[in-house]
Amino acid sequence: MAQKLKHQDPGAAPQGAPVSNLPTACKSQGCKKKSEKMDFCNEHYDWFKFGLITREGAKPIDFDKKYQSYMKHRKVA
Ligand SMILES: [Zn+2]
Repeated sequence: MAQKLKHQDPGAAPQGAPVSNLPTACKSQGCKKKSEKMDFCNEHYDWFKFGLITREGAKPIDFDKKYQSYMKHRKVA
C-alpha cells in the first residue's frame, strides 16, 4: 500500500534545511557545541560578551588576563 508522494511546490526549497535555520557549530576553536547566539554556544557567547573571543572566535592577545577576570566575575555572579 504505497502512498503517493506529493509533488513539491516549484518554489519550495530542495532537500536540506533552509540556510537561515541551519544549526551551525560554535565558532570558538575546538568547541563542538551547536551555536545558540551569534554563531557561539551559550558559554562562548558569554566569552564573546566579555571580550574573551572575537566575533570570529579568535582569542585576543590578552586572553589570559581577560579569562581570569572572567572567572572571577563568574564566581561572584
Ligand atoms: Zn562554544
